[in-house]
Amino acid sequence: MELKAIGFDIDGTLYPEYRIRWRALSYFLRHIRLLVAFARTRKRMRSGQVSETYDVDGIEIAVLAKELGCGIEKARKLRDRLIYRGWEKYFQGMKLYPGVSSSLRKLKNAGLKLAVLSDFPVGRKLEYLGLEGIFDVVLGFPESGQLKPHREPFVRMANRLNVDPCNMMYVGNKLAYDVWGSENAGMRGVLFASSRHRVSLGVTTYTSFPQLTESILLEVTK
Ligand SMILES: [Mg+2]
Repeated sequence: MELKAIGFDIDGTLYPEYRIRWRALSYFLRHIRLLVAFARTRKRMRSGQVSETYDVDGIEIAVLAKELGCGIEKARKLRDRLIYRGWEKYFQGMKLYPGVSSSLRKLKNAGLKLAVLSDFPVGRKLEYLGLEGIFDVVLGFPESGQLKPHREPFVRMANRLNVDPCNMMYVGNKLAYDVWGSENAGMRGVLFASSRHRVSLGVTTYTSFPQLTESILLEVTK
């Protein structure tokens, strides 16, 4: 299948996640109860207990309110202020994995469309990471419609790019969410694993952006 577009996960794929954990350590500790409740909320949503309607934003708030034992409005305020927007500032000046910017430019110059798809609102992250204006489509939750590994976000990304999923590759650092999710939507799922220890058998895996780019350029320019 001809490759026409590539989608990327953001967190842990474009930059190492330990960097945000380290930078935002005091923030994480300060809001630990909320963050644990939010992690449990996401787990419940992904487990399919609450995934059959399309008001995913409302569902997330309702489950979080239950986890926190508070009202809907309070849960919404806490999530929006402290989780969705609160840690954005920690992305300012964040160092990406080596070669990310130049790799993305090379792929774009080769005629490929590029997208990012995240389970969080993208907000100003790309601006702070120095990647503004590179991607043709920027899609985050809740506009993505569901959480990965559901196929819906991948299908929405392909639709926005106006590319058939079978002509797309998706690159992410989580096997179950990124690779299997995108493959379930008909794409080629690719694992980005910065350490060789995480290479999985039978899964196309790249350990650096220059390596990934070289391989893709060989394919699209032959
Ligand atoms: Mg990730």
